[in-house]
Amino acid sequence: MTVDVHAHTSYSDGSGIPLMVDAAEAAGLDAVGFADHCSLSEAWRDERLLWNRNFDRTHGRRREALATAADPADLTLYDAVEMDYEPELEGAIREFLADAGFDYAVGSVHYVAGKQVFPFESFADASDAERRAFVDDYYDAVVSLVESELFEVLAHADLVENHPALNGLTTAAHRERVAAACADSRTVPEINAGRAGDRGEFDLFHPTDPFVAAFRDRGVRFVVGTDSHDPEDFADRVPRLERYLDETGIEPLAVEEVVGGSPGDSLSTPETGPPDPSEAP
Ligand SMILES: [Zn+2]
Ligand SMILES: [Zn+2]
Repeated sequence: MTVDVHAHTSYSDGSGIPLMVDAAEAAGLDAVGFADHCSLSEAWRDERLLWNRNFDRTHGRRREALATAADPADLTLYDAVEMDYEPELEGAIREFLADAGFDYAVGSVHYVAGKQVFPFESFADASDAERRAFVDDYYDAVVSLVESELFEVLAHADLVENHPALNGLTTAAHRERVAAACADSRTVPEINAGRAGDRGEFDLFHPTDPFVAAFRDRGVRFVVGTDSHDPEDFADRVPRLERYLDETGIEPLAVEEVVGGSPGDSLSTPETGPPDPSEAP
């Protein structure tokens, strides 16, 4: 494994760029894509403000910072984004991505029907049927994400498996639908190590083994992401992913195969792009 398509910086909920770059290089990566969280949802506007997750406004400044960091480091940096996908935001996302001009975009379903797909969202009062309905809605959104063709990468396809109240509710039918959608789309699923290791509640890779098998049955290829937020995540997850790739015989796609451009294009030639409105004073 030489390329990690999914890591965060302090422009969302990760650590400072110099620390992340040094740690990515020390972990032996040839390239890392910083995909900070970005949401255009009005419903989560206040939460985004509270957590300083305003990457829709600050991505231009991160691009400058990455261009500054790219020179001394023996590492290719990609200027990417992890976009919250909700079907009703498709028009806004399309417009935003066209304007922002990232190297590539990672699409994630983190929110469904006003609930978060994270363990801090409680499903304690939800019946079994309600939990199953939520998981159905989650996979409807994932399929819709893939069919939208907005993203180069589908992040952690079965994120619901990481939730204690939703774990085990993913069915073969869900896996089939997502795999079939990816087989017909430019969107490539990610092998995500963000919940593997001691910090992951279930110590699992996304997607889980039967999900990976469903993708492979349809000839779908993968990219690989550590979902690192802290510098030490790289040292933990890169070797873990390498072992996983060895064991499964999966050969991940290179970023160039996913985006069709040369590495670092937008970082080495930022001045040739259109002016970024978010950089205006
Ligand atoms: Zn995510
Ligand atoms: Zn992430």
